[in-house]
Amino acid sequence: MKETVLAAVAWPYGNSEIHAGNLVGSYLPADIFARYHRLKGNRVLMVSGTDSHGTPITVRAEAEGVEPIEVYQRFHKGFLELFQKVGLTYDLFTSTHTENHFEVSQAMFKALLENGFMYKETQKQWYSTAQKRFLPDRYVEGTCYICGYQNARSDQCDQCGNLLDPTKLIDPRTKIDGSSPELRETEHYFLDLGTLQDDIAEFLKARESYWRPNVLRQSLGQIKTEGLRGRPITRDLHWGVPVPVEGWDDKCLYVWFEAVIGYLSASIEWSKIHGDPDAWRAWWKVQDAKTLYFIGKDNIPFHAIIWPAELAGAGGTFDAFFNQGKEEKFVLPYDVPANEFLNLEGKKISGSRNWAVWGLDFLTRYDPDPLRYYLTSVMPETRDADWDWNEFFHRNNDELVATWGNLANRVLSFAFKHWEGVVPDPGELSAQDQALLDSVEKGFETVGVEIEAVRLRSALDEAMRLASEVNKYLDTAAPWKAVKEDKAAAGRTVYVAMKAIDSLKVLFAPFLPFSSQALHTYLGYDGQLFGRQYTEAFKDAVGVHEALLYDPDGAAGTWKKSDLQPGQIFKKPEPLFKKLDVSIVDEERSRLG
Ligand SMILES: [Zn+2]
Repeated sequence: MKETVLAAVAWPYGNSEIHAGNLVGSYLPADIFARYHRLKGNRVLMVSGTDSHGTPITVRAEAEGVEPIEVYQRFHKGFLELFQKVGLTYDLFTSTHTENHFEVSQAMFKALLENGFMYKETQKQWYSTAQKRFLPDRYVEGTCYICGYQNARSDQCDQCGNLLDPTKLIDPRTKIDGSSPELRETEHYFLDLGTLQDDIAEFLKARESYWRPNVLRQSLGQIKTEGLRGRPITRDLHWGVPVPVEGWDDKCLYVWFEAVIGYLSASIEWSKIHGDPDAWRAWWKVQDAKTLYFIGKDNIPFHAIIWPAELAGAGGTFDAFFNQGKEEKFVLPYDVPANEFLNLEGKKISGSRNWAVWGLDFLTRYDPDPLRYYLTSVMPETRDADWDWNEFFHRNNDELVATWGNLANRVLSFAFKHWEGVVPDPGELSAQDQALLDSVEKGFETVGVEIEAVRLRSALDEAMRLASEVNKYLDTAAPWKAVKEDKAAAGRTVYVAMKAIDSLKVLFAPFLPFSSQALHTYLGYDGQLFGRQYTEAFKDAVGVHEALLYDPDGAAGTWKKSDLQPGQIFKKPEPLFKKLDVSIVDEERSRLG
């Protein structure tokens, strides 16, 4: 039976470039998972976009003297380029700065308000009399009231590490002009998580048996120890989604409240683009849909507590506010397989100190598949991991090239030379031949099970183990020697090895799509394993936004064992991967910092 699968991918913030830590944290695992389900023939939707709002963007814009929209669009452009180069098959990668996202976010807000899960409360907040506006926490600095550090941010002190009550800051000053702000009262909407707590606890307990321990600890664990309290979901800010209530023109929806709604709004936008405006309901309103949220561990509470609370609280009432659809409950997250962090050469990644492997920069010197391979092989699924350039060098040369690339290249080159580009007829297979094929073909089950459970490191290990089996088989059968004495026996071995390689091509395809496609062509097949990525610009009342899309038409790959036939014409192969020189280790290390 076909499954309906949503791969909801973390929204990169539109104020900095993407590095290897971001890729391995959420974007790459989502793509591997989505590609696997595409090969299985399941109904897949993979969505995300650039998180375009909030104070990190306005702070940067003010520092550069430009409009916030320029900041987000500059980085968004880079994201689209990187995601095509590294092969992330988003059905739609859009942004939160679209008319559609505004409408969907506002409908969610109205539904939560209507259902009684919002309340208003007055808070004290710093106000700039010079600029005549309330200042977000990040705009105010001063002296820490705990340790006396003079340059503390109003919400957190970098010296003592404590989270601060912004109103208690000593000698506050605004970051923009250095003037002294004053405390004024301001009213905000709060999401009433306390009232939704029982629903959320029930939702989490139903998933306790299979969620990652860290995700449970930061969600169910938090409910058990502290309980949930209301959180303000509006801000005194102009750059963002307007609050859909009369007299609230000076405020916006808090970026975290609306960014998670992006998963839903992007699905709706994708449906509209494809001329089937209700298509999104298959993933969001039909309860057997499986929805997975690929994120880093710093975002767990937003995806395991706040987003499910928004979905459960808004429920069918959302449909009443959005296009008056049939009122149905939302599908709650099936899994939130959050990854831990990736460090770099033993230290925490830091973009501002250039302690990072930048995606686009990396791809000017290396191909995408070695990046995908190395990142998957160290994927921080259960604990923090480390990018080490020496390890990258070894895994590329000793595993990707030696175990898999050379296997494919050696067999195809040998077959091309001795059988002139025609797959040999094996005659009757021996017990050893059949045992090898059985072992490799069982990979469609063993690798698949691991991918479905989002244990991608182990899935890749298993595929690599099967490639090693083929190498062992060839060492024993030694067709390179046999071809001189018994060409028929050598032909049988070559046929079996080619068939195994043809199956491995599919097993590796979710991880290494570019080299699997090349191999597909060398083996003499026409067409593409996967669909095509393309960008398109869309205009609406909010402005113009460019999006990345995926066209599945013509994708011929299937998660099935090889059906390679004797007599098939194939091509002279090229090496799938490049062997690296050891000098890259020192070269790359010298680029850091
Ligand atoms: Zn302090």
